[in-house]
Amino acid sequence: MKDLVTLGQRLRYYRTAAGLTLDQLGERVGIAGSQLSLMENGRREPRLSLLTAISEALGVELADVLDDRPPTKRAALEIELDRAQKSTVYASLGLPVIRPSRTMTDETLEAFVGLHRELARRAHEAIATPEEARRANTELRQHMRTLNNYLPEIDDIAEKIVGDAGHTTGALTHRTVGLIAQRLGFEIVHVGDLPHSARSVTDLENGRIYLPPASIPGGHGLRGMALQAIAHRVLGHENPATYADFLRQRLEINYFAAAVLMPRRQAVEFLTASKADRNIAVEDFRDAFGVTHEAAALRFTNLATAHLDLEVHFLRVGDDGAVYKAYENDGLRLPVDVTGSTEGQLVCRHWSARTAFARTNRTTEFYQYTDTPEGTFFESTQTGTTSSEEFSITVGVPFAHSKWFRGRETQNRRTSTCPDEACCRRPEPELSARWEGKAWSSAKLHAHILSPLPSGTFPGVDDRELYEFLDSHASAPS
Ligand SMILES: [Zn+2]
Repeated sequence: MKDLVTLGQRLRYYRTAAGLTLDQLGERVGIAGSQLSLMENGRREPRLSLLTAISEALGVELADVLDDRPPTKRAALEIELDRAQKSTVYASLGLPVIRPSRTMTDETLEAFVGLHRELARRAHEAIATPEEARRANTELRQHMRTLNNYLPEIDDIAEKIVGDAGHTTGALTHRTVGLIAQRLGFEIVHVGDLPHSARSVTDLENGRIYLPPASIPGGHGLRGMALQAIAHRVLGHENPATYADFLRQRLEINYFAAAVLMPRRQAVEFLTASKADRNIAVEDFRDAFGVTHEAAALRFTNLATAHLDLEVHFLRVGDDGAVYKAYENDGLRLPVDVTGSTEGQLVCRHWSARTAFARTNRTTEFYQYTDTPEGTFFESTQTGTTSSEEFSITVGVPFAHSKWFRGRETQNRRTSTCPDEACCRRPEPELSARWEGKAWSSAKLHAHILSPLPSGTFPGVDDRELYEFLDSHASAPS
């Protein structure tokens, strides 16, 4: 498809250069001047036979007319303005479309085009393409690795809040979370009609945090969701300007919620005692603090290096073997794509994160030693189920640290030579010979691979739904 606007600009350029009016040229090629005008404005596509006649009448080569470059700098600006005004970003503003008339100065035109460029740049930055999203996610993971996954400033804040609420030991109750919210000026209200795109909504004006009436299966508990909503306020978050900001904020609110539910002092005491007994187990840590296995495993990685002198890795892997979330500072070689991103990549079939799926009794953790080219790791894996898939949560340490962990006497041992494809990617030769060229399959789309979020005041949340929701609840007694 030819770019009609550029073609029109070239027609006008050669016609003006030949010193002909629209009507004069129209007469020579047998069409009305008004028709020619529509073509010059890019609103009608001329036939090739007509273009040939026009180039002959103007004494230029057809190839010159058909060239896809703007004929002048001015024409280039007009073309750019035309394209910018047709964009969805501009259309969403509801502003009029400006036609660059001959009386519009180059300066005015340049200013318009400059503003459009900036508008496009900002819109682009805020929504992020999947590629940018993945890059931001990878940078954040690498940054957290340098911090040993530990954010002591957030732990300080959480510790103070927990102390002020009078909590000293054991699992934090739902009631205590309510008290914490109250002390910060919030009331927690459970509603059944949250906007589809929001996990929680906070009404800053009336000091209310709206949460769903029940815990989302496989998701975060209600206490965690309330704490995440509070966290935005406590940590002084502003509306995220970039996707990287959005990811960092999400990490921080998750961290804050975990730091309140598993307060640092109590958690470190508990884990230090387990270590002294040579009996560290994520399942015990989980049960002592009444959280999900995943939350406990992640929290363990926050504290393990700084407070227990242990390097660790964490994996959440789906039953298809794909990484959903991963962290390591113990040298385990995570599967990554060319950009360094690990989400959606397949982990080795011989890793505990995948061998654990084969087990029938899943009431306790599964233990395994895994020999890899980077050394031997001791791993413990718990499997779980969401409404749509099975997943596994793994915490692992280098062999030298295994002596502190429950399950270290396991006889399970596997060898992994990944990323060498001969390890577990390549089919057996006889199977290849049997099936090559005789099969066809269609891929399932990975839902967990980061996709761009719809743009709004809050990435991923529909503004209209959000404000309608707030409006319908703000006046209602809670
Ligand atoms: Zn492998």
